[in-house]
Amino acid sequence: MYAVGIDIGGTKVAIAIVNQDGQIIHQDKFNTDLTIEPKAMIDRINQNVKVLITEAELNLATISGIGIGAPGPLNSQKGLITRPPNLKRWINVPIVDQIQNFFNMPVRLENDASAAALAEKWIGAAQSNDDFVYITISTGIGAGIYANGQLMTGSRGNAGDFGHTVIDPSFGQCHCGQYGCLEHIASGTAIARKGSELVGEPLSTAEVFSRYQLNDPVLQPFINDIFRVLGAACVSLINTFDPEKIVIGGGVSKVGHVLFKEIRDYVKRHALNPDSRDTTIVPAKLDQDAGVLGAAALILKNEANIQGG
Ligand SMILES: [Zn+2]
Repeated sequence: MYAVGIDIGGTKVAIAIVNQDGQIIHQDKFNTDLTIEPKAMIDRINQNVKVLITEAELNLATISGIGIGAPGPLNSQKGLITRPPNLKRWINVPIVDQIQNFFNMPVRLENDASAAALAEKWIGAAQSNDDFVYITISTGIGAGIYANGQLMTGSRGNAGDFGHTVIDPSFGQCHCGQYGCLEHIASGTAIARKGSELVGEPLSTAEVFSRYQLNDPVLQPFINDIFRVLGAACVSLINTFDPEKIVIGGGVSKVGHVLFKEIRDYVKRHALNPDSRDTTIVPAKLDQDAGVLGAAALILKNEANIQGG
């Protein structure tokens, strides 16, 4: 059997047909058109999924269902995308109904970070773990929580919206209205914004990190501060969920060894429980495919049968 995974982002939609072993059979990617009504965009997604299935020469009967990973806030119980900051016009959009009516098969929606956590559990960096937290640090920051052998979704599917945890109000106002959210300080967007401000020229996140690695005197202390904040965020997650492992993905994690070393050092010093100070902190394994794989996993590996792989 197969499942279709749909990963909806603020700039791109990725779709894939995935088999029971977590292999991508066929995939496609297209722009998220924010100028059209969400209904028209979902129509386009339906058409493209249909084409994908045809191109893969699969019979609809071999497809168990369609999983969707989307940015929150959403309501996975009601199948609604409620109000994501990066999908401006998508307010209370009944995406599950619209896709279900088109394909007439089971459709399941979860927060994109939760879906990615499920993918890391299935075929990624957390296969042997029943308690772990997946964090993605890219344009925003989100988390997927896997606890007691189950994906922890919360009552509406928004568990893990950890990016809007207040860390330090002196960093200024986040787009959510609070002051000093983790995402406002340490996301890729925030690092590029603040780094550019500090050096007085526009820099991308990658450029900020490459200058940091060349010992830029202004960016060195700034990035060290970011690492400290990310360390504190991990300590909060460890103190709250007592995971065996933290898996970190997203573009910012690509800065690599130095980020992991600094976070591990911080956790070693500050996790409350002495046994938690050695919590394993590793890079995600699935990169950009985590979204579609996790979405497909919502169908192929629901939390009841994912235990034990
Ligand atoms: Zn916020």
